[in-house]
Amino acid sequence: APRKLAAGNWKMNGTLAALAEIDQILTEYPAPGCEVLICPPATLVQPMAARAEGRLAVGGQDCHAKMSGAHTGDIAATQLKDAGASHVIVGHSERRTDHAETDAQVSAKSVAAHEAGLVAVICVGETEAQRDGGETLDIISAQLAGSVPDCATASNTVIAYEPVWAIGTGRTPTSEQIAEVHALIRDRLVARFDDGADIALLYGGSVKPGNAAEIFAIAHVDGALVGGASLKAADFGPIIAAL
Ligand code: 13P
Repeated sequence: APRKLAAGNWKMNGTLAALAEIDQILTEYPAPGCEVLICPPATLVQPMAARAEGRLAVGGQDCHAKMSGAHTGDIAATQLKDAGASHVIVGHSERRTDHAETDAQVSAKSVAAHEAGLVAVICVGETEAQRDGGETLDIISAQLAGSVPDCATASNTVIAYEPVWAIGTGRTPTSEQIAEVHALIRDRLVARFDDGADIALLYGGSVKPGNAAEIFAIAHVDGALVGGASLKAADFGPIIAAL
């Protein structure tokens, strides 16, 4: 069975002062029943990893497909690894929207992550218009086919289902809607990869302390990718505990 993972995506939030939140998490949840990952801004990867001393995993929020070169403002998977990261989010919808990232680019970034020894947390998700148009399952299938590279395994890859319309909106799909998409993702992974049954599947989009337990009870939900509610230990802690 996949390992349970509570992952926080701090997005473009936080300075050194915010590391106090992880101190609180480590104090209040010293032995969580799941793996805990926080993906802070790149500036905080190294200090957070130093502070965590392996008690929680630290990840990047994006990486380049190449390992070095003339790519101003980008960051290589090997650099994240060097700074103490064990994971990197790739293909987040905010990257796909703000930076026009394609499935092919997300796949190439995932390969770079794997080559650097990082776990790639590959994000997929439909827009509201796509859901309203009845295209959700086709969109998710296409994103999986295009964004998940052939070298994916249960040890180097996590899939996060994040409906774009649920991110930062306070709106979440029904349990049936989450179950339907997670079952589809599991089917696709099992069909394509030998250990597809063991690849962890996260749900993301307006996960809060108040809805976490209900979401974690859904079949093929192995954890969450949490945005806003991962910024404060008082919110992220109860989500970790619910898993
Ligand atoms: P929120 O939890 O703020 O909705 O963000 C979800 C997300 O995008 C995590 O990657």
